[in-house]
Amino acid sequence: MSYSEIPIKTPERTIMIDISPQVQAAVSATGLEEGIAVVYCPHTTAGITINENADPAVKKDMIRSLNKLIPYQAGYTHLEGNSDAHIKATLTGLSVTVPVFGGRLALGTWQGIYFCEYDGPRNRRFIVKSVNG
Ligand code: ZN
Repeated sequence: MSYSEIPIKTPERTIMIDISPQVQAAVSATGLEEGIAVVYCPHTTAGITINENADPAVKKDMIRSLNKLIPYQAGYTHLEGNSDAHIKATLTGLSVTVPVFGGRLALGTWQGIYFCEYDGPRNRRFIVKSVNG
């Protein structure tokens, strides 16, 4: 099947989780050799991005900078109290498209695909759509 929904549990309010292995497994399960994988987040307070997966300090710096730019409480009007998470999700974006070649995600050496939680902890999911071409 070229469409997978993969559950993910996020343990903290703001956290970036490397989902590259799950995305690769979903692509491999389809038998896709050449095409693209679309990774999509169907939530309004979480996102998907690609960035460095070698030095964990990069994730820490990214989260710290996002929290500095968009504080948790800053006089927002949204009654649910999680406007910062909505704004961070929009800044991050909700999907990435990765080329697939030889059955593998064509990620760079230092790249990982991240599920970005901004209003956890929660039970979340993301979608992987593998497209032949
Ligand atoms: Zn909200």
